[in-house]
Amino acid sequence: MKPKLSDLVLLEGKRAVVTGAARGIGRAVVARFLEAGAEVLALDREPGALEALEGVAFHRLDLADREAIQRFWSGLEVPVHLLVNNAGVYAFRSTLAVDEDYYRRMMAVNLDAVFWMSQGFLRQAPRGSAIVNVSSIEAFLPFAPGLAVYDAAKLGVVALTRAIAREYAPRVRANVVVPGGVRTEGVREEVRRAIWGLDLKKVRIAASFQARLPMGRFGRPDEVARAVLFLASDLASYVNGAVLPVDGGFLSA
Ligand code: NAD
Repeated sequence: MKPKLSDLVLLEGKRAVVTGAARGIGRAVVARFLEAGAEVLALDREPGALEALEGVAFHRLDLADREAIQRFWSGLEVPVHLLVNNAGVYAFRSTLAVDEDYYRRMMAVNLDAVFWMSQGFLRQAPRGSAIVNVSSIEAFLPFAPGLAVYDAAKLGVVALTRAIAREYAPRVRANVVVPGGVRTEGVREEVRRAIWGLDLKKVRIAASFQARLPMGRFGRPDEVARAVLFLASDLASYVNGAVLPVDGGFLSA
């Protein structure tokens, strides 16, 4: 018998770990997962706006710390079925000004943590589990100058996701969403910094970015969260290794 649509979307009985969960896209994912019936363990450096969400468990973790990630996974006593590697950091710096410290910071959260979190997850993931990683349109179309290291890390996330998709199917599916132009706290902070720092070049780039959005507007965190929910749920039971832009058409314009 064909399953009902509502059964396929439900995450009832599933346990999920979401990184970078305190705000922006991560928080929107947590809210949608809770609504779909999942038990959610939200990871971040601070709980931030998570406290307003009922039923969420928070775990403080610095994703730049590989040993802390390993301790986290070895301390878990129950299986986790879903992993969303959402946490990311974006700080603009021209390629010539990049130093070791900046380079390591960008890589540690945007790529290394995705690898170590996935490894811990894969060690224990039961059959029917899923990973959803969060990349960026920047990986495919570097638009804003000053993000070379970020862009490289985010394209690395795509390669890593596809490798896992091939290596661990059918036990685990792995897919990646590619957001672009989503109005989150992180993006707002960057725009505010550019305006108040009178960084006219950056303000111009932000304006031309907005003008190129085919939908004529920025996306909302929940619009990315819904795509993540789809990939995590049984609705996507035969979707594996997919790269799904959630960018209002930016990459194809
Ligand atoms: P955001 O800055 O609003 O939130 C990111 C969250 O990650 C924060 O809660 C932060 O505390 C957490 N985090 C960062 N470093 C961490 C660390 N070391 N340990 C634990 N937690 C850490 O970001 P957002 O705009 O919601 O972006 C979410 C993801 O989407 C990121 O991977 C980002 O690169 C990607 N993305 C966003 C956009 C966009 O337009 N907003 C576009 C493309 C890709």
